[in-house]
Amino acid sequence: MRLSRNRNWGHPELVQFLERFAPLAAEATGWKGILIGDMAQPRGGPLPFGHKSHQIGLDVDIWFMPMPDRVLSKAERENVLGSNVVAADGKRVDDKTWSPADVAFIRTAAEQPEVERVLVNAAIKKELCRVESQNDRSWMSKVRPWYGHDDHIHVRLECPTDSPNCRAQPPVPSGDGCDKSLDHWFTDSILRIKIPEFGGSSAGLKLKDLPPACLAVLNAPASSASAATEEHSGPR
Ligand SMILES: [Zn+2]
Repeated sequence: MRLSRNRNWGHPELVQFLERFAPLAAEATGWKGILIGDMAQPRGGPLPFGHKSHQIGLDVDIWFMPMPDRVLSKAERENVLGSNVVAADGKRVDDKTWSPADVAFIRTAAEQPEVERVLVNAAIKKELCRVESQNDRSWMSKVRPWYGHDDHIHVRLECPTDSPNCRAQPPVPSGDGCDKSLDHWFTDSILRIKIPEFGGSSAGLKLKDLPPACLAVLNAPASSASAATEEHSGPR
C-alpha cells in the first residue's frame, strides 16, 4: 500500500516471511489476503517522516483491512483508507470495525517463530486479554501495546543469524501482558499523546549519526534488479 512512499523494501528474510505469512493469515481469518504497508526504504536508513523504526528491513506494517477479492490498482493502493479498529475514546475496540478475524490475524503473526514483536494499540491488547482469557495465551507476550497502531499491526522480526551487527530487541517481559502494566495506557495523559511509531520522525539525522556500516551499504553498487528500479524512480 502507498507505493509512492517507496517503503516497500525489506531484508530478504522479511520478504520471505511475508510470502509465508500471507496465506497463513488468509486461512486463519477468512480474508482473501493481507495489505502490506510500510516496510523500509531502498538500502534502509532513517525515514524522513512517520517512524523511528523501519530502518533495517525487519519491520513491516500490515493493515487490519482485509485484502478485497481482487488486486487493488496502484491508485487505490494510494488512496483507500485503512480500517481503524479502535473506538474514538481510545479505550476499547470499535464494534463496527473490529471482528474476531482480527484476533486470528494478530495471533497468527505472533505465533510465527521469527517474529520478535507485534505492536498494537493498547485498546486492542486489552480486547485480546478479554477474549482470550480462557485460551492458551503463550503467544500474547509478544503482542505489545504502543501508541497509534489502530489501523495496522507492526511486526518486527528477530535478527537474521548472518547479521552479527543486528541488535535484538530487549526480551519481552514474561507473562501475557494482561496485568496492571496495561492500565497506564488508559490514563488521560497517555491517551492524549498522538505519536505514530517509536516517538516521531528522524528529521535532522546525519550520516555521521548512523553506524559506520551504513556507509558501506550506501556506497555499494546497485544490483541489476535495484538499478532498474532506481533508474525508473530517478536518483535519490
Ligand atoms: Zn510500523
